[in-house]
Amino acid sequence: MSPADEEREPDEVPARGGSERDGGAGSEPAAAGPRPDEVPVEAYFVRGRNAMALWADFGRIFEDHYLHLMQLGVRLTAEQDELLKESLALLTLFLASRPNDESVAWTLNFREPPLNVFVTGDSVRGNVVGRVFTEDVKTAETDLFFAQVSSPRNPMRRSTVEIRGRDMLRVVEDYHRQSEQFPARFFRLGGDRYGMLVAHPDVDRAWYESLDVEGFRRLAEDEELRLIERRAYHYACGCDLDLVLKVVVDAYGRDPERILAGQERIEVRCPRCGGVFHVGREGIERYLRENP
Ligand SMILES: [Zn+2]
Repeated sequence: MSPADEEREPDEVPARGGSERDGGAGSEPAAAGPRPDEVPVEAYFVRGRNAMALWADFGRIFEDHYLHLMQLGVRLTAEQDELLKESLALLTLFLASRPNDESVAWTLNFREPPLNVFVTGDSVRGNVVGRVFTEDVKTAETDLFFAQVSSPRNPMRRSTVEIRGRDMLRVVEDYHRQSEQFPARFFRLGGDRYGMLVAHPDVDRAWYESLDVEGFRRLAEDEELRLIERRAYHYACGCDLDLVLKVVVDAYGRDPERILAGQERIEVRCPRCGGVFHVGREGIERYLRENP
């Protein structure tokens, strides 16, 4: 933990909802570089090989993710933890490899035991977040990967592919091969570092297919790289009470009595990050007034 972590409010759930990139007066100019909570992701064109390489150290995103789980009192099994953590890293690389106005959500649906791993992120706000679901998980005959990609330019694109095995890198490679225009490979670079290699048309296929982790680590020495873009992503959901109340009103209707079901206050969880909000009659009535 860095010293900065101790300065945060202990009950800040979900983390930093109010400090998004479009936060107005407090926003730093782009030239100021990434904020302390941001993970820089660099994308390079590998000249002579016709491929794009991206890598990042996800330490800060993982740190904020674990802080969020701790605040919520969520305990994951080692396998759930690994699947969720790597999904966050690979989703971030995937976002950074694509147009800068897209948002993406992945749900990995496993049968034995029933488990959903959900991660989502947005390149405009530069955020990623995720959680696991173990209760009321519907399963199919095979393990499935559901993806949604959307942007202001394009309607939401949905795809579903079968999951084989539980190695997240291979799972996302399978998804990429079946859903995207070009194939991609992912690499565990050690520590919290992950890399991605996207094949362009006319890629040096033999090189692309045979590159190993050591070769990926040495890319900057062995190959001629040209920086395409530098982006930054951080761990945050961006939810607030009104967003969560919208989900509640959509599900239960606009009757505070029905929403409260005889209780003075109810606990509402954000479906994206699991963040907990408490709301009573006043809060619900205010929301209904402001959102006619
Ligand atoms: Zn949330």
